Amino acid sequence: MCLDFVNTLDDRFTDHPKELLNDYVDLARFAEDTGTLSDQQVDRLMTRSMQDPEEAERALESAIRLREAISNIIYAVVRKRPLPAASLNLLNSNVQDAFQHLALMPVKRQFVWTFEMRLDDFFAPLWKIARDAAELLASERLEFVHACALNTCEWLFLDESKNHRRRWCDMTKCGNRAKVKRFYSRNKKAATS
Ligand SMILES: [Zn+2]
Repeated sequence: MCLDFVNTLDDRFTDHPKELLNDYVDLARFAEDTGTLSDQQVDRLMTRSMQDPEEAERALESAIRLREAISNIIYAVVRKRPLPAASLNLLNSNVQDAFQHLALMPVKRQFVWTFEMRLDDFFAPLWKIARDAAELLASERLEFVHACALNTCEWLFLDESKNHRRRWCDMTKCGNRAKVKRFYSRNKKAATS
């Protein structure tokens, strides 16, 4: 989920990155689409964001700062570059915020981790994203995080294939585009030589 969140800045490394989180409603929709919050929580947050746009905007700005911190860390890992300390600090402070809301909830004689939230807490979507990023970074799955091999995409994805040799975020989309590109550049070279 935190990788999908990083991908909400589309075409990240091109000259024209596309921002998909333009207002708080976009962030609430992301939370809804990824099952981060319940429908009821999302509805409530959307209504509240109309009533208190300034506080909603502050939460959106924090969400984007968190996204960029996660992005800096994970791309540094994927590309084997030095870790950005400021980004790690920012993620850590988000994780600490998130854990203040963490609680155990009994489910049939067992327990699950849950977040205690007021229905109108604008920052609630950030808690799960921060925890998800922390869990991924501290897990063995981290080595299977890759950036899509198509240079106009570079979306992050978790490669859960058997041999862990997946190269594209989506075979039908980027895999095909990469093949078409190779085909044209080969033909172009053949035509010019
Ligand atoms: Zn891709």
